[in-house]
Amino acid sequence: MATEHLINELQSFGIRLAAPGSAGVTRRGGAGPSDHVPVTIDGMTVMAPVHNAPAFESPYLAEKPNAQGRTRLSRDGVTIGDISFTARPRFYDRVTADGVPYSHIATLHGRDVLATTVLQTCIRYQSRVKTCQFCSIGHSLAAGRTVERKTPSQLAEVAKAAVELDGVRHMVMTTGTPPGPDRGAAILAESARAVKAAVDLPIEAQCEPPDDDAWFVRMKDAGVDSLGMHLEAVSPAVRARVMPGKAQVPIERYFSAFEAAAPIFGRGQLSTFILAGLGDSAAEILDICERLTSIGVYPFVVPFVPISGTPLESHPAPTPDFMHAVLEPLAAMLAKTGLQSNEIKAGCGKCGACSALSTYERKTGK
Ligand code: SF4
Repeated sequence: MATEHLINELQSFGIRLAAPGSAGVTRRGGAGPSDHVPVTIDGMTVMAPVHNAPAFESPYLAEKPNAQGRTRLSRDGVTIGDISFTARPRFYDRVTADGVPYSHIATLHGRDVLATTVLQTCIRYQSRVKTCQFCSIGHSLAAGRTVERKTPSQLAEVAKAAVELDGVRHMVMTTGTPPGPDRGAAILAESARAVKAAVDLPIEAQCEPPDDDAWFVRMKDAGVDSLGMHLEAVSPAVRARVMPGKAQVPIERYFSAFEAAAPIFGRGQLSTFILAGLGDSAAEILDICERLTSIGVYPFVVPFVPISGTPLESHPAPTPDFMHAVLEPLAAMLAKTGLQSNEIKAGCGKCGACSALSTYERKTGK
């Protein structure tokens, strides 16, 4: 099976674990996609669901690790190959000067990304009516796996250790949306400034478009290298249904924000998450990607992962065929417009583990 199809299948179906607890670093709760783990196959690290409902019925099975620590992956009983799960990073064993475990401040994503949700609460998460239906930002907080507000000095301390102990190469800072008009840009800027003062680590910040475009210069000056402003869903009907609060920010505001931010961050350093499988058609997703790529924004299209405990926990993940129908033409579009994941300085598009898109890009570029 071609690698990109295998990734699509693993991300749609998930992986059953013969030995629960064998999956190394796990990611449960948090903003955006969750409930999945980094799996390395053929030298590539991808995120695959293991904790959600589809994974329990997946045709893919990760067998018990053998004596050498190797884990065999099979599909319906047929061996596919060896995989490995990411080992617990060393920085997880540390505790901050003020007594908080480092793993409650930031976590390892993919192979070499340090990720944090600077503010673990969100104005949109307060009510069932407004919450983004796919998001689990409150879960890890309720479960005591994180703290609500990571201070700049805690982030700096953890980032430095993650670089020194585990070779982390870039950092993603996302945030729940606070009540103020800056939509989180202010706390991201102060966090980036503190991290950059402690360690040389490329940073992607992720937030809603702030009310004032002056925040783009402030974030850049503070040390943010790349910026993600996430559309998630693209058509008016799907936006209103799955993210009723966030849908109040019109798509056109995202575009005006991208246009204002482009000269500051540079072509290819802006990106947006698009969750495929929530109801937008392939044509609707590709249409908006056409607009995004034409202004230098990298559309990071990922398969929607149903997360346990969210209103969409029973919503199906997209089929591998649907992902193929989106990602193959999208990779061609990226090649035509000269946008490349590996030229992004930091962040999800660069990491790429949540989607097969970068694998399609490599194939298209051959
Ligand atoms: S693509 Fe983003 S959310 Fe997914 S593993 Fe990488 S850093 Fe984390």
